[in-house]
Amino acid sequence: MPELPEVETVRRTLNTLIVGKYIDRVTVHLPRIIQRPDDIEAFAMELAGHTIQGVERRGKFLRIMLDGLVLVSHLRMEGRYGMYQEGDPLEKHTHVVFHFSDGTELRYKDVRQFGTMHLFKNGEDLANKPLMKLGLEPLDEAFTLESFVKVIGARTTKIKIALLNQEYVVGIGNIYVDEALFRAGIHPEQPANTLREEQLALLHQSIIDTLLEAVQAGGSSIKSYVNGQGEMGMFQHQLKIYGRKDEPCTECGTMIVKSVVGGRGTHTCPKCQVLV
Ligand SMILES: [Zn+2]
Repeated sequence: MPELPEVETVRRTLNTLIVGKYIDRVTVHLPRIIQRPDDIEAFAMELAGHTIQGVERRGKFLRIMLDGLVLVSHLRMEGRYGMYQEGDPLEKHTHVVFHFSDGTELRYKDVRQFGTMHLFKNGEDLANKPLMKLGLEPLDEAFTLESFVKVIGARTTKIKIALLNQEYVVGIGNIYVDEALFRAGIHPEQPANTLREEQLALLHQSIIDTLLEAVQAGGSSIKSYVNGQGEMGMFQHQLKIYGRKDEPCTECGTMIVKSVVGGRGTHTCPKCQVLV
């Protein structure tokens, strides 16, 4: 499942590849990817004749900005975009094709078929599903310690569960939540409202640092990341705790343990992250 850094990497890559392209037509091979409008012909009709002006992001959603329209795209588990030339053989699991006037095509592939696209008039996407209820954007200037404490500090739920709630803070999934909690030395099951002020400050900074480092690492590997067909994949960040069960902690050498918190596999160093 891509999290904020992976989606940000895809966003940056798309920004270098599709801005300025004029959409001649759109072909939809799997209607259920298109969530809005209901009618896939209306979707294709509305997009034709528009030019891509930029690619933005809200949480784990890509916002493809066109003149007058916004296409909101979520990759979910396996969604991928790739650049192709007109006439290139259509690969399996290609569900949506954007045909550009210069003979190139942006193709959306998705083996699991969980990805979604919503099309809006400009200015309407942020006030509607699926973006309307999204919480703080952790790489925004608005993500201050004060705003973080206001949203998280009084919650009685376990801190890991609170951080995974996209209505509080967006873009942190199971991997980066474990990484950020480890860096801050906080146990994932610690109730959020029992964290001390300095712990919240440390956690706030750990979230930013963890995500930024992953974005930078992803950003620097963008080139090697786009394969021969220009297909973008997910970047695997160097992880300190996630996926390292029974390996020594990088800080203290204690064996990392794996447990389940809120139904999610959770990695903890029993010495660096003590439940109090
Ligand atoms: Zn440790």
